[in-house]
Amino acid sequence: MSAARTEPTRGGLEGSAGGGGMGGMGGMGCWRGGWWWHARRRPCANHGPRPGGAVVDLAIVHSISLPPGIYGGPEIEQFFGNRLDCDAHPYFHALKGVEVSAHFVIRRSGEVLQFVDCDRRAWHAGRSRWRGRDNCNDHSIGIELEGLEGDTFEPPQYAALGRLLRALARRYPLREVVGHEHVAPGRKGDPGAGFVWRALRAALRRRRLWLIGDPPAKTRLTPRNRAPARMDRGLREAARTTVGALPG
Ligand SMILES: [Zn+2]
Repeated sequence: MSAARTEPTRGGLEGSAGGGGMGGMGGMGCWRGGWWWHARRRPCANHGPRPGGAVVDLAIVHSISLPPGIYGGPEIEQFFGNRLDCDAHPYFHALKGVEVSAHFVIRRSGEVLQFVDCDRRAWHAGRSRWRGRDNCNDHSIGIELEGLEGDTFEPPQYAALGRLLRALARRYPLREVVGHEHVAPGRKGDPGAGFVWRALRAALRRRRLWLIGDPPAKTRLTPRNRAPARMDRGLREAARTTVGALPG
C-alpha cells in the first residue's frame, strides 16, 4: 500500500481490478509521472518528445507477436529494446535496424508491460492520419496486444485494456480509441477482425470513450453527445474503409 495522492474511485471500477492493491487506484495515484503503477516497467530508448501543445486524446490499439503467432517469449521486449537477435528466425530479418516502441504491451495473460513514459512520444503508428491530423504518434498512446493480426484475443487482455484505458483517461484528455488499421488504412491491418470492439466497450463499463466500433458514425458525431460536430474527410475515409471489417 502507499500513501500516494489519491482521488475517490468512481464506482470502485479500478479498485476491483486486483494487482497492486493500491488505494486510489482509480485516481491519479495510479500514475508516477507518465508511468502506470500497475504495469511492469520495461523502459526502452525508442521515444522522443511530443511536439509542443500536443493533446494526448487518442489511443491506438495494435497487435504484435514475435515470431508471428508465438506467444509468451522475450522477443517483443527484445525488439523494443533494440536487442532482438535478427538472425534467430527468418521473420526477424526484416526487423534488422528497425527501431520502434509502444507505450504498453498487454500479454495474453493480461499482464501489462510499459516501455515508454506516456508523456513521451512512442514510435508505434508510423505514417498515419486520423481526423485530419497526421503523425498520430504525436498525440496518441500506443498499446500493443500480444496476438496475431486477424486472430482472436484473450478475455484477460480485454479486461486489462479496459483498466488501462480508464486509468489513461484520468490522466490524459483521452477521447477516442482506434486500431492501427484505422489510422493507416491500406498499410496496416492490426489488430484486425479478430479484435472485438464490443468486448472492449464492455470492459470500459461506464467510461465514455469513443471506439471505432461505435456505430453509427452519424449518431456519434453530434454536438449533443459531445463528439466533434464536423466529420472531416479523414474520418469519413476511415469509416468507409473500416466499418465493413468490424465484427458482427
Ligand atoms: Zn500496429
